[in-house]
Amino acid sequence: ERRQIIAGNWKMHKTVAEASYYAVELLERVGAVGSPEIVVCAPFTALAALKDELEESVVHLGAQNMSWAAEGAYTGEISARMLKELACTYVILGHSERRELMHETDEEIARKVKAALEAELTPILCVGENLRQREEGRASDVVRGQVEQDLAGLGEEELRRIVIAYEPIWAIGTGKTASSQDAQEMCADIRWTVAQMSGSAASGMSILYGGSVKPENIAELMRKPDIDGALVGGASLDPAGFATLVENA
Ligand code: 13P
Repeated sequence: ERRQIIAGNWKMHKTVAEASYYAVELLERVGAVGSPEIVVCAPFTALAALKDELEESVVHLGAQNMSWAAEGAYTGEISARMLKELACTYVILGHSERRELMHETDEEIARKVKAALEAELTPILCVGENLRQREEGRASDVVRGQVEQDLAGLGEEELRRIVIAYEPIWAIGTGKTASSQDAQEMCADIRWTVAQMSGSAASGMSILYGGSVKPENIAELMRKPDIDGALVGGASLDPAGFATLVENA
């Protein structure tokens, strides 16, 4: 049985005070939920406060990025070890906003995946095509290429510890969800790509869908055989709404 995961990605939202308030509100609503696994991926600045609120709870903590370097002269960067100290167990890597706006390359993302695994953080590796690539019929090729490059050189034991999120860029923050059928096809494609590296890692890997996931559409997405959860942006920002989404999953 694969792990089902609902992960919230706050992106650049919430101060420390707002994050603490959120944690209390969320826990009141999901206090004893055993499955799906709930993850909150918050800005670096909110992680220490969230650690205090969530450490003993069912809600797991994640970051939204990290450096591929272990430590050193990298002004403005945050290392895996720093995240571990703040009780993070997950880290989002290769989000399309970082690929597009911060020009992160697959080579850098692959280094980050390795660094996260070395520190025993679970990477949530994001992949996905843009609108033009989809319209040109290249969505599968693009995503397959990202998976192959970002996971290059990993062995079976390492692949087993990875979560992949399929996030078509045209569905992010647009209100346009991929049809559950399209999302299923791409997630199955991703699993097939991983299976070329390791069959057993692929069958056990949790693959999430992201892009305008809401309390209203989560159940249909989760019914698909290769979709094991969701990475949720906008709809994770309100604790009551996120709790409803988790409940509907
Ligand atoms: P939205 O849920 O706001 O579309 O964002 C999706 C996303 O990018 C999650 O990482």
